[in-house]
Amino acid sequence: MNLILLGPPGAGKGTQAKRLTADLGIPQISTGDMLREAVREGSPMGLKAKSYMDAGALVPDEVVVGIVEERIQQPDCARGFMLDGFPRTTAQADALATMLDKKGLKLDHVVCIEADKEELVKRLSGRRTCRQCMAPYHVLFNPPKKEGVCDKCGGELYQRDDDKEEAIRARLVTYESQTAPLIAYYEERGLLRRVNGLGTVEEVYERIKQAIS
Ligand code: ADP
Ligand code: ADP
Ligand code: ZN
Repeated sequence: MNLILLGPPGAGKGTQAKRLTADLGIPQISTGDMLREAVREGSPMGLKAKSYMDAGALVPDEVVVGIVEERIQQPDCARGFMLDGFPRTTAQADALATMLDKKGLKLDHVVCIEADKEELVKRLSGRRTCRQCMAPYHVLFNPPKKEGVCDKCGGELYQRDDDKEEAIRARLVTYESQTAPLIAYYEERGLLRRVNGLGTVEEVYERIKQAIS
């Protein structure tokens, strides 16, 4: 199955992707995680990406498209994949369509997780992320068993630079202007599955399972 998880920053894409990948046996491809990895390694691409990310802007299309194109060639994607945070512009969506066409593949579902702005800001400002496995936590809504430590891998939890107030506001504006048009894009193609992202992680998970069954 080839899936896209769409939705504003903080909607719960990463949280749900981590569960879905275990359940469906397909890898999560998070362009945000891959870009942060490149930043940490200090690669030329990472250095270029960092300024956009810190400002809450999008990294140029050609950079992200290149990353995804390379990633979906990997053997673990042979049985399908889940894109988390990609595509984010119609140019990226068009590039993805071309990529999949060339390989004779198609998308099965685009799951759009919806939440209002007030909830998104609460979620993003309390988010903590594992440095090692990238799992997302929340200081109030989804705290780790031991403060500052990842339940899954023991890694250190930190606050992303772009989860501070100014960058959060900028990211929500970026989403509205550049990414939200993808909702209509995929609706026109009959692929959009809208899911209410409010409620517990478990409730949202059940809605997603239903939407793709
Ligand atoms: P969130 O899950 O909070 O929405 P991500 O981890 O997906 O955030 O992305 C963090 C940042 O990485 C984005 O603000 C953007 O700068 C960059 N980024 C991630 N994916 C893309 C993409 N598909 N296109 C352009 N930039 C991206
Ligand atoms: P995204 O990848 O869409 O940016 P995340 O999965 O990283 O979103 O979730 C953003 C924040 O909200 C994290 O701190 C996460 O723990 C928290 N969160 C995720 N789902 C829920 C939920 N259903 N209820 C409350 N908080 C949630
Ligand atoms: Zn971890």
